[in-house]
Amino acid sequence: MAQLVYSSKINKIRSFALILIFVGFAFMYIGILTKKIDWLMALFFIIGLLFIVFSVVVYFWIGLFSVRAVSIICPSCEKPTKMLGRVDACMHCNQPLTLDKELEGKEFDEKYNKRKYKKEIKKQQNKDN
Ligand SMILES: [Zn+2]
Repeated sequence: MAQLVYSSKINKIRSFALILIFVGFAFMYIGILTKKIDWLMALFFIIGLLFIVFSVVVYFWIGLFSVRAVSIICPSCEKPTKMLGRVDACMHCNQPLTLDKELEGKEFDEKYNKRKYKKEIKKQQNKDN
């Protein structure tokens, strides 16, 4: 059976930002290759610059997220990690983590972070009452 690997959200966003930087540099490199055509070189440089600017924005965004993230000690590898939302994975060992006692022992699912899911839970609770 194929096992799904969950990685920490902060790590995911971080790798995304890193990819953006590489894409940006790739565009600038193409720009250098096309330096014989002025407008094409300028175009590639602008696109490359946009990617890098976007990446900086994403890095800034991670910074904001990290502040809001909850710092915990991973029960699996005992290293300090940060988690976002109700469920997340450890940044070091990808151990699924939850802050919600109700979800403990349940299979890890990204849906627990979705607003729709929270609404459904509320609906159910209202029915029970
Ligand atoms: Zn861990």
